[in-house]
Amino acid sequence: MALETVTSVEHLRSAVADARSANRTIGFIPTMGALHAGHLSLIEAARRNGDFTIVSIFVNPTQFGPGDDFDRYPRTLDADRAICDAAAAQVLFVPQHEDVYPKGDQTRVRPGPLADGLCGPFRPGHFEGVCTVVAKLFGLVQPDVAYFGQKDAQQVAIIRRMVLDLRMPLRIEACPIVREPDGLALSSRNAYLEPDQRRRSLCLYQALTTGRDMLRAGESVNDAVAAMRERLERTSGVSVDYVSVVDPDSLDPVTDTKSRLMVAGAIRIGSCRLIDNVLMDLSVDRE
Ligand code: AMP
Repeated sequence: MALETVTSVEHLRSAVADARSANRTIGFIPTMGALHAGHLSLIEAARRNGDFTIVSIFVNPTQFGPGDDFDRYPRTLDADRAICDAAAAQVLFVPQHEDVYPKGDQTRVRPGPLADGLCGPFRPGHFEGVCTVVAKLFGLVQPDVAYFGQKDAQQVAIIRRMVLDLRMPLRIEACPIVREPDGLALSSRNAYLEPDQRRRSLCLYQALTTGRDMLRAGESVNDAVAAMRERLERTSGVSVDYVSVVDPDSLDPVTDTKSRLMVAGAIRIGSCRLIDNVLMDLSVDRE
């Protein structure tokens, strides 16, 4: 079946109703567009699950702060459509602003303490904007399964909690991070990097894997964090938002190593903010 591009709520609802009456599960991949192989992996996960697959593209203003990149965020609809089509998604939903934020809109979904650490302090209001738009999109699409990337690990944890707390009747699937061959996590924002910045951006993944290897070798969390910070700070033009070792479920910083850990960091290079993380399980991968 060819990809259908849907730009109205009415059209979306009729496509979803048709799929439901054909007994299909609805798989949903919310995105902001500028699609790359990371997004593609989420579409492929839905297709593997046998879902009627709906991808949305909406650059959500409420998750951007005042100085953020909302205006210049890459918008590449034709290329995105080709990617969805090639991946055999059934619907590309491109809502209008009013479909998501109806005239007079005033309701917001505010996350709890999971939003307080990691990126939270550096992006005030960001996760409230994310929860609000994702809740709205879930209401519009009414999926059975929604697919998110582990690259935005804090986002996945917050959305899982929202789905549980608000009793939303769907399942969240987190998919592994897709990386460039040299390790840089794919991101729509990588398009902002000048060639020289692109080279230096690799310090983030290198720092995180250094930290991971130290923890695997039995070194302390403090020493691993110090080494990661040093690796980042010696890269010129890089400023560090945070580098941290946290519990992958609560996202609380850990001081003592335990079996499951997430090593996470965020840096700025020029006008580009990059985040990344690596998950580890010392019960299986201690060296
Ligand atoms: P975005 O368009 O940046 O809002 O991302 C849409 C979805 O794609 C989110 O669930 C992201 O976590 C996911 N995603 C973005 N980059 C990657 C990546 N490199 N690997 C896997 N998933 C990703």
